[in-house]
Amino acid sequence: ISILAIETSCDETAAAVVKNGRDVVSQALYTQIEIHKEYGGVVPEIASRNHVKKLPHVVEAAAHDAGGFEQIDAIAVTNGPGLVGALLTGVSYAKGLAYTLKKPLIPVHHIAGHICANYISHPELEPPFLCLVASGGHTQIVWAKDYTEYETLGRTRDDAAGEAIDKVARVLGLPYPGGPNLQELAKHGDETKYKFPHSFRGETHLDFSFSGLKTAVINLLHKFDQQGQTYRKEDVAASFLKNVADTLVKNTFEAAHRTGAHALAVAGGVSANEQIRGAFGKRAREEGVSLYFPEPQYCTDNAVMIASCAYYEFLKGTRGGLELNARPVMEL
Ligand code: ATP
Ligand code: MG
Ligand code: FE
Repeated sequence: ISILAIETSCDETAAAVVKNGRDVVSQALYTQIEIHKEYGGVVPEIASRNHVKKLPHVVEAAAHDAGGFEQIDAIAVTNGPGLVGALLTGVSYAKGLAYTLKKPLIPVHHIAGHICANYISHPELEPPFLCLVASGGHTQIVWAKDYTEYETLGRTRDDAAGEAIDKVARVLGLPYPGGPNLQELAKHGDETKYKFPHSFRGETHLDFSFSGLKTAVINLLHKFDQQGQTYRKEDVAASFLKNVADTLVKNTFEAAHRTGAHALAVAGGVSANEQIRGAFGKRAREEGVSLYFPEPQYCTDNAVMIASCAYYEFLKGTRGGLELNARPVMEL
């Protein structure tokens, strides 16, 4: 079964063809990073307009490289969560395509897609497993019961990890997108230099909070500026990322203990981060747990992960009709 998937939930215009949920046949991705850089973040209206402009080319390229539309068995699309206007461009396009080609249409949950990125990078990975999803808009610990059923065990109560990372990068004067730039800066810093507060220490729930940490970093930088104190941005970046990594590791491994999980996956844009990968790797070795990350290109938004997820939904019988709509907010 070959599925052509479309992903337009944020600022990536992406299409891909994946066979049986695991084998990447073709992919095309147009990133709008350069366009949004000027504004320091994603401007929803501009994102939507560029999706409309680029979608035909991106979809054509993915279909062409897969041997043409005749080779496609179904069309999949991210229908939420995400920016409503951006999602709508993909949903409308996918509906038109499915109707014209007389192929089934499969709606895909964006966060389930992030989790399924691990199936692409690790052919041996099968549910059940525990997965931390850390992205620009979400931070949640998920028990992946099977290919299409998920249970959320903990989530952020305010900012997502990626959101806090992007904000701290911005106040440090780094260009958008903050995450990768903060990672490089932190490589030259001392992670023990500053102690920032850890949220929810001593609590029994598995939720996260990153807004207090974000504010602590901003306040420290204000204090330095007011007092004319010099400091190394590298040290602030490294200390901040260490705090984020420690918190993500702590809650995720606590969840692993409670569920008895032997396999642990991490997904979403933040899982591309080298320092965070390092922290998870160290703890997984200590505990003897199998650890999985998608390849970096499949951590951030892409259509390959959506096509993988769609395959398992297809087998289950999930279908979308012409009334399919974009859903900006959507539970996993
Ligand atoms: P969501 O998936 O919740 O809808 P999104 O799609 O915008 O949000 P992703 O594309 O999964 O999010 O991830 C983007 C986030 O990942 C951004 O916050 C970005 O800064 C962060 N990120 C990407 N690469 C890195 C990195 N190397 N280090 C740290 N953060 C990173
Ligand atoms: Mg993005
Ligand atoms: Fe995403």
